[in-house]
Amino acid sequence: MKGGVKRLLGKTLFASRLNAAFFRNAAVVVAFHRVQETVQDDDGLTVTVGMFERHCQFFRRHFRVVPLREIVRKLERGERLNRELAITFDDGYRDNFEMAAPVLQKLSLPATFFAVSKWLGTDVVAWWDRERNVRHPWMTWDQVRALHRMGFEIGAHTRTHADLGQVSGAEAQREIAGARRDLEKGLGAPVELFAYPYGSREHITEANRQLVQAAGFRCCCSSLGGINATGGSPFHLQRVPISTWHASPHQFGFEVALRRSLLSA
Ligand SMILES: [Zn+2]
Repeated sequence: MKGGVKRLLGKTLFASRLNAAFFRNAAVVVAFHRVQETVQDDDGLTVTVGMFERHCQFFRRHFRVVPLREIVRKLERGERLNRELAITFDDGYRDNFEMAAPVLQKLSLPATFFAVSKWLGTDVVAWWDRERNVRHPWMTWDQVRALHRMGFEIGAHTRTHADLGQVSGAEAQREIAGARRDLEKGLGAPVELFAYPYGSREHITEANRQLVQAAGFRCCCSSLGGINATGGSPFHLQRVPISTWHASPHQFGFEVALRRSLLSA
C-alpha cells in the first residue's frame, strides 16, 4: 500500500471509536535508533527531530505513554493492559541524549534507552554504519548517567551488539549478564530491562532467552513489530521499530491497528 493511502487509513482508524477497542487489552512498545536534524534518503535508522516530536505528540494523544517497566510489571502480575505505549531507543547513539531527550523532557514523556555497554564512550563504529561510510558517536557514560538522573530508564542490549541467535554458552553469558554488570557498575543502579540486538525471531535462541531471565532481567524485547496483549510474557515483549519508512505518525497508527485486528481475529 502506498504511504498516502496508509496515512489516510491510519487517520480514519484513529479518528474512529473502533480504535479504543483495538487497544483496550494491549500495549505498544516502539523502538527508535537515531534522532537528528536531518536524515539522508537511504538511512532507515534515523528520524528527524521534527518527525520525532510529531510521533511523540501522536503517542501522547492516542495512548497512555508509560515507562517500559510499568508494562513489564503489569505482565508480571497478569494485570490487564490498557492502551499503554512505551518509547524505547536501541544502541546508545549520542543523539539520543542531545536530540531526543530534550523533546521527551519538553513533552514530559518517559523513555528507555537500551545501550551496548562496551561501545559507550568509545569510537567503535558499528558494522552497519561502517558499511554506509558514516560515523555516529555513542553516548558517553556521563550522558547515560545524566539520562538516568533525569528519570529515564537505561536497559541492556548486550556488550558488543551480539547476535544471540548465533552465540551460545560462556560467550552468550558474557554478552547478557556481562552487559547488566557493566551498566549497573556505570550507573550505580539496578538494570532490569533487556532488548536483544537485531530483534527478529532468528536473532535469539530459547537457551539465550533463558540466560536473559537467569541474569536477573525482567523482560526481553524483540523488534518483531507486533503489539502486546494482556497475559503475554515479559520475556516475549514485542516492539514496533519506527523509521523514516513511517512517513507520518498516522501511518504508524495504521500499522499498529492492523496488527491488533489480526491478533484478535
Ligand atoms: Zn541494536
